[in-house]
Amino acid sequence: MSVADSTETDWVSRFADEVISEAERRAPGKPIVCASGLSPSGPIHLGNLREVMTPHLVADEIRRRGHECVHLLSWDDYDRFRRVPAGVDPAWAEHIGKPLTSVPAPPGSAHDSWAAHFKAPMEAALTELGVEYRSISQTEQYTSGAYREQILTAMRERDRIDAVLARYRTKETVQESAAYYPYKPYCELCERDLTTVTAYDDDSTELAYTCACGFGETVRLAEHDRGKLVWKVDWPMRWAYEGVVFEPSGVDHHSPGSAWIVGGQLVGEVYGGEQPIGPMYAFVGITGMAKMSSSKGDVPTPADALEIMEAPVLRWLYARRKPSQSFKIAFDQEIQRLYDEWDALGRKVADGSCQPSELAAYNRAVRTAERSLPETPWPVAYRTLASIVDVTTGDPDQTLRILGDLDAITSLEDARPRLDRAQRWIDTQVAADQRTRVREEPDAELLGSLGDDERDSLRLLVEGLDEHWSLDGLTTLVYGVPKVRAGLAADAKPTPEVKTAQRAFFALLYKLLVGRDTGPRLPTLLLAVGADRVRKLVGV
Ligand SMILES: [Zn+2]
Repeated sequence: MSVADSTETDWVSRFADEVISEAERRAPGKPIVCASGLSPSGPIHLGNLREVMTPHLVADEIRRRGHECVHLLSWDDYDRFRRVPAGVDPAWAEHIGKPLTSVPAPPGSAHDSWAAHFKAPMEAALTELGVEYRSISQTEQYTSGAYREQILTAMRERDRIDAVLARYRTKETVQESAAYYPYKPYCELCERDLTTVTAYDDDSTELAYTCACGFGETVRLAEHDRGKLVWKVDWPMRWAYEGVVFEPSGVDHHSPGSAWIVGGQLVGEVYGGEQPIGPMYAFVGITGMAKMSSSKGDVPTPADALEIMEAPVLRWLYARRKPSQSFKIAFDQEIQRLYDEWDALGRKVADGSCQPSELAAYNRAVRTAERSLPETPWPVAYRTLASIVDVTTGDPDQTLRILGDLDAITSLEDARPRLDRAQRWIDTQVAADQRTRVREEPDAELLGSLGDDERDSLRLLVEGLDEHWSLDGLTTLVYGVPKVRAGLAADAKPTPEVKTAQRAFFALLYKLLVGRDTGPRLPTLLLAVGADRVRKLVGV
């Protein structure tokens, strides 16, 4: 069953409509093909997750409607190794120009190649996100000869391809009389692509090349499986070969002369195929990722995001925004607000008050056509969990005590996996000087300097602790103490004077409890500190 009652409900439904009808026109009765492409040339940036999530959501909707649909994830692992990133032994420079699958993994890796090293964490993240896909290694495709006919076609049609490319060449890049070949061999001797094709014969398919290393040979292209089509030909070749009906791409692919534009012409003129439906997706930014958290370089990856937020929440970010809308993924304090929004949506879903588009995005986030994603049985607010693990420094007994006071939680498992994400966020994203340290001993100097008013306020607080020992109760208590001191009822509307008194009272409590002017929300902090320790620290 599809997510939405109406196919007009959200962007995913509208694309699914379009793709299903286009697939029926192009290849009736065949499985529908959606595609993504990723390069394992380095850590896969979290922003590139949109390349996968956009077709995933559309393919998932198509499957929910009962159609057969495959999501191909093409790994461009036969691309050349371009440069040695900072932090890797400069000796890796000798591998520049080799296919990514022929370059050794970075030092210390358990994987057998550069490509495998960077694929693995992305594949693990996609599994955690519930993304169903069929992985294709371009190394396997090219070296097995899968594209042999397509390569021979491209070589036969090289003048036509050259003419299409020429429409977009600027004067400066026009090469005088150099023969154009859309195929680049990897050198038999040095494995690098520093090769130049010097001659090609269509009838015999004999291809001669020389390499910058000094090597040269003549091969029969009809038998040669060590080279690849240039990118602008490779992409449309694969659209035709796989029968891709939907493949989005980033804004950088859509300028004049770019691979998408040129490919759209080549796929028909050379391969007799059609360009996929291909929305251009906007940039996804990251806010506030702390340097310390990325163990895999300075690049935030989907795995990093999944350490601090649950899979449904990350899915939701992509489901609720059209591909053309850019958005940011928060690693800073904003993540707490994001989670507030997510919980508010969950409540609206539960009581049936949300809009159809909101409901569609929610359903796409929490389950796929195949399975439900893990949910936290007892979803305590993320900001509350963050405060608790901050104050308790993750001590499980203390954490369970506070959660039990807060809510009827009897096992930490009830609060997981959200609890673990909040813990990870505090540990990796909140700077040491922003962490909360509850005082071990009372601040005798400050306590000794207090006037009668302040002492009375603290006494009122302490007297009310047991009766108000819940998040709501303590909220009423801390706001109520200054009102009662001013002769008002605890539930009276505060006057401007009372508001000033509340601010002063809160600042005093923060100073006495954590030695700073601010901290986590006071009711959460009080629960986290525990009634006995509160009594000790406020000196009453
Ligand atoms: Zn060579």
